[in-house]
Amino acid sequence: MSIVPNKPLPEIHELTKPFWEGAKNGKLLMQKCSKCGTVNFQPKPWCIECGSRDMPWTEMKQEGTVYSYTVSRTVAMNYPGWKEELPVILCLVDIDDGARMYAQVKGVDPEDMKVGMRVTAIFEDISEEYGIPKFKPL
Ligand SMILES: [Zn+2]
Repeated sequence: MSIVPNKPLPEIHELTKPFWEGAKNGKLLMQKCSKCGTVNFQPKPWCIECGSRDMPWTEMKQEGTVYSYTVSRTVAMNYPGWKEELPVILCLVDIDDGARMYAQVKGVDPEDMKVGMRVTAIFEDISEEYGIPKFKPL
């Protein structure tokens, strides 16, 4: 008998590891280019703007603005862990430091969601070593 995990875990590899470790420690870490200042997200081996490979992981401000969202009212991929949270609000957030990221928004009813809403990051553990950033209304 196989065990179905409660929720799918992200695929974590060398390039993305600092992001998930940061979230475990309550930090929103992204790669910021030393040469041109562009915040690169999702993680990349070189800067999308100037091609530099010097992009130290940098702590971002944890606030942002909702760019777009969708509401899921069914269980994604049959993972039972989603069921208790339905409806799930999935969002594109423009963080104040310049990157756009995909994340879940909690603590708000779907009817009250708005494009342009201000949100702040919250962090949940997904394992002993890693966490995941989500957002809630400011
Ligand atoms: Zn750059």
